[in-house]
Order: sequence, then structure tokens, then C-alpha cells
Amino acid sequence: MPTQHPPRVAIVGAGTIGTMAAWRLAARGAQVLAFDHFAPGHDRGAAGGESRIFRTAYMEGRGYIPALRSAAGLWRRLEQETGTSLLRMCGAMTIGAPDDPAMRELRAGAEEHGLDHEVLGPVAAADRYPQHPLRTGETAFLDPAAGVIRPDLALIAAARRAAELGAAIAGYTPVTRIEPRGGGWMVSTGDTAHDVDAVVLAPGAWGAAEGPAHAMLAGFGLVARQITLHWFPARDPGALTPEHNPVVIRVGDPAYSCFPVMDGVSVKVSTHSAPRPDVGSPDGLARSSTPELLAATRAIVRDHLPALHPDPVRIAAYADAFTPDGHAVLGALPGSPGLYAAAGFSGHGFKLSPLFGDALADLVVDGATRHDISRLDPARRL
Ligand SMILES: Cc1cc2nc3c(=O)[nH]c(=O)nc-3n(C[C@H](O)[C@H](O)[C@H](O)COP(=O)(O)OP(=O)(O)OC[C@H]3O[C@@H](n4cnc5c(N)ncnc54)[C@H](O)[C@@H]3O)c2cc1C
Repeated sequence: MPTQHPPRVAIVGAGTIGTMAAWRLAARGAQVLAFDHFAPGHDRGAAGGESRIFRTAYMEGRGYIPALRSAAGLWRRLEQETGTSLLRMCGAMTIGAPDDPAMRELRAGAEEHGLDHEVLGPVAAADRYPQHPLRTGETAFLDPAAGVIRPDLALIAAARRAAELGAAIAGYTPVTRIEPRGGGWMVSTGDTAHDVDAVVLAPGAWGAAEGPAHAMLAGFGLVARQITLHWFPARDPGALTPEHNPVVIRVGDPAYSCFPVMDGVSVKVSTHSAPRPDVGSPDGLARSSTPELLAATRAIVRDHLPALHPDPVRIAAYADAFTPDGHAVLGALPGSPGLYAAAGFSGHGFKLSPLFGDALADLVVDGATRHDISRLDPARRL
């Protein structure tokens, strides 16, 4: 529903999606009030851990490709408007058996959408990237329109730009209550009540825990899952920087992702084969590995990543909210005019976050969006 102009909009959670929504809503002339437990760019939410992957060829479903192309343009726009370098296009190489469903989806999506790409066998891949050897029978899919994003910088840049455009970003201000009042909504932060026309619920993994946003998102089956990251020292860090080393994802067994050197020292490796435990609330997250996960990740490095020493020098854990179908819930909440969900990004929401912010701004201001986010509609059956 289009609200009155300019609408007054509260954003509950100035994390990844919340800061992007604040930027896009403020650019559309909305009066934005964004609240967060911490400050944009903090390391307690789903944006922690130094780097995020951007890809255009998408094993999670070729239906995302048009949105990914638009998101790349919005990343460049945020960079331009803030003078900050955020997305480094170093390419992504996905390794797997050619008949693995993920490899098939990558090839089919690239062909259907006319994406630049290359498919290499073990010999050609070893020639180009000897640090990522393929096993016999495996192929490598190269997506040049892929790279790494600095997540903390991205959130700080979006929040700063939103503030320049008139948004109020209130850090260290938890939202304690949300309820309908006078045809709009009342958002309470302790002793202060804010009357607004619309509320965007962007609470990240807190949406799966106790709290005002959780109460309103309770029907979506959100679960706060832990993702653990390990950083391994590079034998020659200079050879693994984004100029020389793409993002690498291996599908099948084992499944993992691995980044270029971003800190001058080490490479971040994330194991995808291991379960991502339900942590209940991000507040209770043990910010470390388990002996089993540590052993599995060290084995990956020992067996597949010869350019790294197999003992990690840094370990961290973060939580994201997952939905039962692995796709986010984004849009107007049925039966609650003026209330918008932006939740459950299920471990892959970062790359599209500026587009999600833009779509939310369209929905709040115009009641419709040109972005195809239909598969994320809160009205779908989860
Ligand atoms: C380790 C890890 C690696 C990932 N890697 C990738 C990747 O490579 N590529 C990719 O595309 N995606 C990736 N993802 C997924 C992506 O980062 C997340 O989907 C995305 O960041 C989720 O954003 P969010 O806004 O929902 O949550 P967050 O960024 O966590 O923001 C939620 C915010 O809401 C605030 N909040 C909650 N409740 C309240 C309240 N009541 N009052 C005030 N504030 C509140 C919190 O403090 C928090 O700041 C990864 C996720 C993780 C955890």
C-alpha cells in the first residue's frame, strides 16, 4: 500500500538490509528513523567476518540473475555516492563434478541469460589457478562478474549516505515494542514512542528470537543458524590477493568457499558440508568453532588448498536467520497495512542487499516494485 507522502518510516534493525533500506527510502524522500541494538557495521550481526561473496551466475537459482545484475549497479552507485570502494570484482570459480545439480544450474543460467563465463577442465584450471587443484573428472565454472564485498564498510557507507539524505540512524537504541496506533504504527524504544506510517522489520537473526520483531514474524519459521569461519595463513599472501586469486566455491563433498587474502595474512575458509546449528538467539552465540568442525576445515585445507598452512589463525562465528525454503521473506505483511518484512536471508542475502533496500523503498513509497522479488513474497507458503 502506498503511504502518504512523504511517509514516516521506522526501520527495526540497521544491519545489512536495514541500512540499505534506509539509504533507498531516504533517497525517495521518506522520513526515515532506523534503530539498532548496536551501530551500523558492528560485528555481532550477519554482516561480520570481513568479506562477502558477490556472484552473478547463481547456483541457488537462475531466477535471481536479473536481480543480481541490478544489484551490481546499485553497489556501484553506493560506491559513487559515498566515495568508498566496496565491491572488488576478482571473479568466482566454482569447482565440482559436471553433473552436480549446482554446476548444471550455473551453466544453464549463464547460457539462458547470456552471462560471460568459462568452463575449464583440470589441466586448464591448473594452468590458471594452481592454488586450487581440481580432481580428475571435475570442472571449474568461472564467473567474471563476481567478487568480494567489504560488509562492515558497506553498512557504514549506506548508513552515512542515508543520514546525508535526511535519515535518523539511532544506534544503541533497541526497539522494545511495535503496535498499531491511529491508523499507523507506534514503535517504542524504551521510554520514547515514535508514530510512523510504516515499519520495516529487518531484525536479522534476532527475528528468530524473543523480541518485538519476532512476534510479528512468528509465522515464517525463522531459525537463527550459526555460520563459522576459519582463517588460514597463506604461504605467500601476496600471491593470493584479489588481483591473483578468485573467490572459490567447491560443491559436492567436501563443499566449502574460500576467499582471496583480504587482511594481508590469511584466507577465509567456510565449510558448507557441516551442519549450521540452530543457536536460538544470536545473543547466545558461541563465537568459536567445535573440535569436529575445526578438524573438518583443517582437512579441507590439507587436501585441497596447498597454498595455505592448515592451522587457522583466526576463528569467528555469526548467525543469520534461515527460512524453511532458504529464500527470504521480503514485502508487505498480509493483513497488516504498513508493516513490511525483510527477514530470513538464509546465508545468501548480502550480495543482493542494496536491491532488497531499493525494493522495500518502492513498496513503501509506491506500493509496488519493478524488481522481481515475487519468490520472496511473504504471502507464499513456507
Ligand atoms: C558468516 C556469514 C557469511 C555469509 N556469507 C555471505 C556471502 O558471502 N554472500 C552473501 O550474499 N551472503 C552471505 N551471508 C548472508 C548475509 O550476510 C545475510 O543474509 C545478511 O547479512 C542478513 O542481513 P540482515 O539485515 O537480515 O541481518 P543483520 O545484518 O544481522 O542485521 C540485523 C540488525 O537488526 C538489529 N536488531 C534486531 N532486533 C532489533 C531490535 N529489536 N531493536 C534494534 N535493533 C535490532 C541487529 O542489531 C542487527 O544489526 C553470510 C552470512 C553469514 C552469517
